[in-house]
Amino acid sequence: MKDETKCLHSGYSPKNSEPRVVPIVQSTTYVYDSTEDVGAVFDEPTKSLIYSRFANPTVMAVESKIADLEGGVGAMCTSSGQAASLLSLLNICGSGDSFISVSQLYGGTINLFSYTLKKLNVECIFVSCDATDEELDAAFKPNTKAVFGETIANPALTVLDIERFAKAAHKRGVPLIVDNTFATPILCKPIDFGADIVVHSTTKYMDGHALQVGGVIVDSGNFDWTAGGFAEFVEPDMSYHGITYTDVYGKSAYIVKARMQLMRDFGTYPSAHSAFLLNLGLETLALRMERYCLNGTAVAKHFEASDKIESLSYPWLERDKYHSLALKYLKGAGGVIAIIVKGGKAGAVRFMDALTLASNEVHVCDIRTCVLHPASATHRQLTDEQLVAAGVDPGMVRFSVGLEHIDDILEDVEQALRKV
Ligand SMILES: *Cc1c(COP(=O)(O)O)cnc(C)c1O
Repeated sequence: MKDETKCLHSGYSPKNSEPRVVPIVQSTTYVYDSTEDVGAVFDEPTKSLIYSRFANPTVMAVESKIADLEGGVGAMCTSSGQAASLLSLLNICGSGDSFISVSQLYGGTINLFSYTLKKLNVECIFVSCDATDEELDAAFKPNTKAVFGETIANPALTVLDIERFAKAAHKRGVPLIVDNTFATPILCKPIDFGADIVVHSTTKYMDGHALQVGGVIVDSGNFDWTAGGFAEFVEPDMSYHGITYTDVYGKSAYIVKARMQLMRDFGTYPSAHSAFLLNLGLETLALRMERYCLNGTAVAKHFEASDKIESLSYPWLERDKYHSLALKYLKGAGGVIAIIVKGGKAGAVRFMDALTLASNEVHVCDIRTCVLHPASATHRQLTDEQLVAAGVDPGMVRFSVGLEHIDDILEDVEQALRKV
């Protein structure tokens, strides 16, 4: 099936007389005929439902739709994008390990990597997405267990050279994890370019309607965990009656381990109702992404032609530094544009406060046009040095183009620019 069809049909195929729409199974638990049956469920956790902290039929339908869209062997939804990033790494790294991350990242991810994981004695080594092959290779330590980056960075809008980063990671025997939130599998399938694990904040384009906060981890099934350095995958898990994940679950070892160890213990599973809302968004994802790309390009061209704009980043523009990478990896650049308005932060605030259709809010990739000033909001906790590394200018405005009629969006932009 093509993506448009997968968005509608993957993950749920009703049988004779069953509901047409994925039902909301709002139940914490599942009934069995006997004590023996309940016990057996723990031996076959991927075949039967145990409890809705591990899995739930509504959420599972969404998981399998997203796995299908990304081209993975399995997926696990989480209660937020943050939980997805955290668990994707904790499934590989423990105390005393390190991982490499591109520094052009979402602000919440920078905090998680720089401070909270550090408290767990997991070190993040930051490199720029523009690092040369030599610089990247030099960042590895003997205890480095993974490489992490965002397909299109929020809000720097840099484009990750996925093949190059995958090659560097694989040369050192570690997996590449890609946060594909801004591209979605409609614009980029990182697994096709060598990524081993894909994570998302489903809060953004996947949901699209600002209804639920959620995340997902997708396993490509391609990484060989038995080649060395990943003891937890190849040795018996004493917390799960001695299962060896690679022996029992083969290509799905990573995603089953994430569920049976980490979801069991951290409990960041979404509710059935949230998954139902996410699924509604996913049904129109392919259609919406086309229009985001059209509207995004039109607004970016408008900014490009304006004398009130000092600089802008939108990888679909020919003059953008990441245009050639965008052409290689993306089918379009989506609806998010980073601009620097003349007059620095004061100019930015003037422009944002003058907008009437676009809302000022802590969100991005919504169906409605919205704006945010990252340096004082999502990236507020960062030091000046971290802001530069994240690609966030103090005057940057993150403009997230919605699906209103393009004429109305441009009219709002133009009247606000005139007030700068
Ligand atoms: C928003 C975002 C996250 C965090 O997701 P939440 O759902 O808000 O927890 C992670 N990565 C990227 C690229 C994001 O835009």
